[in-house]
Amino acid sequence: MTPRIRTALVIGGGIAGPIAAMALQQAGIEATVYEAYADTAEGKGGGMTIAPNGQDALDAVGLGDVIRPFGVPMTGIVMQDWAGRRLAEFGNPPGVAPMQLVWRTDLYGALYTETERRGIRIEHGKRLVDAVESADGITAHFADGSQATADILIGADGIRSTVRTLIDPDAPGPSYGGLISFGAQVTGTTTPSTRSKMNMSFGKQAFLGYQVLDDASGIWFVNLPHPTPMSAAEAKKTPSEEWLKLLSSKFADDRTPARELIDRTAPEDLIVVGSMENMPPRVPVWSRGRMVLVGDSAHAPSSSSGQGASLSIESAVELARCLRDLPYQEAFAAYERLRRPRVERVIKETTHKNSAKAAGPVGRVVFALMMRIFDKLAKPEKMAWVFDHRIDWDAPVN
Ligand SMILES: Cc1cc2nc3c(=O)[nH]c(=O)nc-3n(C[C@H](O)[C@H](O)[C@H](O)COP(=O)(O)OP(=O)(O)OC[C@H]3O[C@@H](n4cnc5c(N)ncnc54)[C@H](O)[C@@H]3O)c2cc1C
Repeated sequence: MTPRIRTALVIGGGIAGPIAAMALQQAGIEATVYEAYADTAEGKGGGMTIAPNGQDALDAVGLGDVIRPFGVPMTGIVMQDWAGRRLAEFGNPPGVAPMQLVWRTDLYGALYTETERRGIRIEHGKRLVDAVESADGITAHFADGSQATADILIGADGIRSTVRTLIDPDAPGPSYGGLISFGAQVTGTTTPSTRSKMNMSFGKQAFLGYQVLDDASGIWFVNLPHPTPMSAAEAKKTPSEEWLKLLSSKFADDRTPARELIDRTAPEDLIVVGSMENMPPRVPVWSRGRMVLVGDSAHAPSSSSGQGASLSIESAVELARCLRDLPYQEAFAAYERLRRPRVERVIKETTHKNSAKAAGPVGRVVFALMMRIFDKLAKPEKMAWVFDHRIDWDAPVN
């Protein structure tokens, strides 16, 4: 029988990468993380939610306390139209812990600190360009000419994964979703507290999300329809003052707090995320030889599902559990068996919101109608299976 592996190269230092590396360490496997960017801040702006299933997966490997200190509870999402009229509400299923709203920079910072505290190396400026397998290992080749070798290679390199293409040159890739995204944290707002709920409003010209806390601080994000894709780096060539002015003007006809929140934002606090991209619902091949995918590279739900990070965390933990108990080929097969049905179901059932954000006036009216119907029919209990998902780390995989 092939022996269990001892070492792993983890490509990508986003969310799935560091968590996979820490879970692998707990499984007795030595992992090193290789991140393309030279610094940790690039492309990591904005707020995001960690759902209860993501929190449970973190707890399964003793990482829950990494986010608890700065997570802000979020108990539901209220959908509104441009006039601030409520369309629908997505509440937490009864008995399920609230989602945690976290600032992406806080999350990445905490993950990096914890990864390094556990003695796991994260090497920056290492962009994977190729990988070559031999009978007893795999060698990663980086753009700077350096190499690294281990028993297996894990592609935690996000929605535009290079590892996915190395595994399957015909793999589907992301397509531009018609929106570019911005966000900021604000203090001293006069917008009333949203009482632990995220409000999302389909404005006449752009989509707004905001949550205001009882202490008058809050976060907002805007998805702006834009005809062509724009990376964060390209968008940052336009001064933040200009973006803020433009964003504010897009909400001139809306009756939501958009302008108050945007106008209160200091230019240096604006986070420019860039293009929002959509992945096809199914990535057909998750592993080949000594390579395997984890996180967005294998399964990226729409950004508004609030599940991308949580599913990535679950998969990172499950992959490590499988590799702990099985030789790598069997581990990859077991991992896919455990994960694929769940992630594809989540993707299928949470993709409804994004297309309406970039819709024209007619699309928005149709969507508002759909939301009102949905609100009458929807039962939060029906979504409990998404949130109420536990990983038993100690249970053997066979
Ligand atoms: C605007 C927006 C809002 C979102 N909001 C939420 C939310 O509220 N809740 C939620 O759960 N999810 C949200 N998501 C989705 C979430 O960000 C992703 O699901 C999550 O980041 C996936 O983690 P990952 O580690 O797989 O990929 P990433 O976090 O994308 O990390 C991949 C890493 O790999 C690196 N990399 C890429 N290529 C290479 C290479 N060739 N060599 C080495 N390194 C490489 C990248 O630099 C990056 O650091 C949102 C996404 C967007 C765009």
